[in-house]
Amino acid sequence: MRALVDPYGRHVTYLRVSVTDRCDFRCTYCMSEHMTFLPKKDLLSLEELDRMCSAFVAKGVKKLRITGGEPLVRKNILWLFRALARHLATGVLEELTLTTNGSQLTKYAQELKDAGVRRINVSLDTLRPDRFRSITRWGDFAEVMAGIDAADRAGLAIKLNAVALKGLNEDEFAELIEFAHGRGFDLTLIETMPMGDIDGDRTDQYLPLSIVRARLMDRYTLEDIPFRTGGPARYVRVRQTGGRLGFITPMTHNFCESCNRVRLTCTGTLYMCLGQDDAADLRTPLRASRDDALLASAIDEAISRKPKGHDFVIDRRTKQPAVARHMSVTGG
Ligand code: SAM
Ligand code: SF4
Repeated sequence: MRALVDPYGRHVTYLRVSVTDRCDFRCTYCMSEHMTFLPKKDLLSLEELDRMCSAFVAKGVKKLRITGGEPLVRKNILWLFRALARHLATGVLEELTLTTNGSQLTKYAQELKDAGVRRINVSLDTLRPDRFRSITRWGDFAEVMAGIDAADRAGLAIKLNAVALKGLNEDEFAELIEFAHGRGFDLTLIETMPMGDIDGDRTDQYLPLSIVRARLMDRYTLEDIPFRTGGPARYVRVRQTGGRLGFITPMTHNFCESCNRVRLTCTGTLYMCLGQDDAADLRTPLRASRDDALLASAIDEAISRKPKGHDFVIDRRTKQPAVARHMSVTGG
């Protein structure tokens, strides 16, 4: 079967799948407190998600990331991991991973490991319980820390992701570095992206990572290293801790030229770019026939429309988010 190559010659080998738009947290930069979620009837079933992912794997996708919303709140989600693991067993798929807020890891870490997951990303913006509550609104810090411990014990490699938030956690990056590296975890810092309406003003939250990096250099020696995970993060080694620190800078540095990914929502809509509205409906061709011929050609057609890059802008004049949908729809 033909590999997925877009009009700019980029090979699409990475699919991120949002299995639910729902979440047990309401992080202030991600959601408003009173979100309207998709009607359950619009969701792809787990069997349909499996078929969808498998069609991409047949077209050369090597890496699948399950995300959300909070993926681990979707009922019976481990079934999907176990089903997709058959592609790991045949070697066609190289990696099956997960991005999670950590709240359900005490329950699922071992089962994830048993299903074939090797690495997970856990979002953790602060190490202070009161701050954690105010950033996530509904999250329980102790529960997430216990989840991280469970994942560690199960032998899952952990990368922590922290969104850099002006006035909220900007005084804590050194602590996060010490914590992550002390436990043998990578840490990645992420700039806020203007996606979806939230209750506040994003310009109040936006903190360019160029500033964070400059501040960290007063305290640490940051050595550029060629390490890449196939994603947009640029890594340095922190000489004092020996650990890896990544920077994801969609706002201050456009990383689109090496983009290898597309994103599927829980209703079967494919977004070819995180920062653009253009999308393709894959649910209709999936449901239209039992074999995957229609789906395969709809995927090819979608990839032929993958845009060159995103148009994110955050400034005081642009009050509207650059894209209307929330990050929880496509999973980041
Ligand atoms: N619920 C899971 C979690 O929090 O890890 C998975 C989905 S969440 C949407 C994926 C990642 O996107 C998280 O690391 C979160 O911090 C990040 N995120 C959400 N909204 C964002 C925004 N507007 N800008 C930058 N990152 C965002
Ligand atoms: Fe939920 Fe993740 Fe969004 Fe926080 S960032 S509200 S945990 S989907």
